[in-house]
Amino acid sequence: MALPAVVQVKMSAHPQMTAFSFSKNRLFSFKRSKSGVIMMNLVCIMRVNRLYGDLDTHGFTREYELQERGFLMSIVEYSKNIAAKTLVKGSLASFRAIPERSLMAAADIGLKKIDYAEGRDYMKTLILLAKRNLDKLSPDVQKRVAGFIGNALVSNDNRRDRFKSENGFKPPILLVISPTMRCNLNCYGCYAGKYSKGEDLGMDTLESILDQAEAMGVYFITISGGEPFMLGDELIDVFRNHPSILFQVYTNGTLINREVAEKLARTGNAYPCISVEGYEEETDARRGKGTYRLILGAMEHLRNAGVVFGFSATATRDNNDLLLSDDFIDFYRDRGCLVGWYFHYVPVGKEPGVSLMPTPEQRIHRLERLRVRREQNDILLADFWNDGPLVGHCLAGGSRYLHVTSSGDVEPCVFCHFAVDNIREKSLTEILNSKFFTEIRKRQPYTDNLYRPCMIIDVPEVLREVVSACDAHPTHSGAEAIIRDLAPELDEYAEEYRKIADHAWAKRTNTLVEMK
Ligand code: SF4
Repeated sequence: MALPAVVQVKMSAHPQMTAFSFSKNRLFSFKRSKSGVIMMNLVCIMRVNRLYGDLDTHGFTREYELQERGFLMSIVEYSKNIAAKTLVKGSLASFRAIPERSLMAAADIGLKKIDYAEGRDYMKTLILLAKRNLDKLSPDVQKRVAGFIGNALVSNDNRRDRFKSENGFKPPILLVISPTMRCNLNCYGCYAGKYSKGEDLGMDTLESILDQAEAMGVYFITISGGEPFMLGDELIDVFRNHPSILFQVYTNGTLINREVAEKLARTGNAYPCISVEGYEEETDARRGKGTYRLILGAMEHLRNAGVVFGFSATATRDNNDLLLSDDFIDFYRDRGCLVGWYFHYVPVGKEPGVSLMPTPEQRIHRLERLRVRREQNDILLADFWNDGPLVGHCLAGGSRYLHVTSSGDVEPCVFCHFAVDNIREKSLTEILNSKFFTEIRKRQPYTDNLYRPCMIIDVPEVLREVVSACDAHPTHSGAEAIIRDLAPELDEYAEEYRKIADHAWAKRTNTLVEMK
């Protein structure tokens, strides 16, 4: 093979160095092996002319040339950035063609902005899974997935940076919005079962929140409820109106038929997470007879239509161990789930009871078990209570997220049913700057142990303190039980958990030190 002239010059001048060359939108690297053979590697495919109109694609190989044009980064950094920027443009061909190694190298650069190692690793797994499963998805879903990953790697920073310089703190990463609390099921222990069902948020308010979110650089929105698909086509229209946002939708799945699945495949930017409690017996016992059959039907429709979807499971004392078994995870992975969310039952909502919570031992077991299972890289698993190390600390109070209910109340967290402000009266930015949210953020992390991240169940005195100091009101009848009637039992639970969680955290910290 004849090497490009500029590569020949470069390699004779610097025999040990890697040289690069662009040719027909492809970036190649050349390196001399120990035995003297020159190895060529396709780094990535890109559209240089589209991104930087003045650059030619021929023989553009030299660091000094890059520097002449004002790029002071090394050519390696440059190529990684180009790869990431190409993804932003939603260049599906590039995402498909880029070798996994190069994609991970781009991710290393793009994910530097996440300042906790486990969060970066998690995002890398997400990117890898997306690439490996791309061909199973509808064309529109593929485009949105590539665009979302590109955004996660390089863009949006201007809006986020501007928000930070104006407000002194970063905007949240995601918002949870419950546009309706109406639901076609009546599940035992539902966390949202006590909210008023008489009032929906309204599409104008929902659109306004999404516009405000985009303006501050929030591109990941979770839609919860109630059952979101009760809103029918209005919900699909919202997805269509905001193509830059990735929507995660928590749903009971029973309203997802073939038509709905095909609409989701066309909007491409919404992925449902369907609630299950185990298999048929466990799911129907909590959600009603026949629900499980409808759920499996919904999963089949989504898979056939090429939509990304996952399961969501609430761990209780009774089903915690079942939910962690390989059988359970494999079963839903084989139905097409790419994502699996675990929630720890907390005593809020309908008929709250501390005795339903998984025991402290079960919680630690879940933490360890999911860490091991994640190594298989075949499904993206997340645990809302145990992934403190993944996200740095508790997400509440706008540090990473908040929850807007169907009445417009803005709660610090989906499971913290207290509010001071309403989105119909104040802007998102004003609410993020409120005393209630500021006091919560000021206290984070609440302990040094990220296995105890939660102000509701791990350090319940924090929730009591901020609710009282900021005069926050309960957002539905009975919500105050968690800081009053249930407080002694929760304190006892938190103390029992503290003993084993502190031990587990010390073990983990020591292991990490030894690994360094
Ligand atoms: S308050 Fe608890 S449940 Fe809510 S975000 Fe923080 S850790 Fe998670």
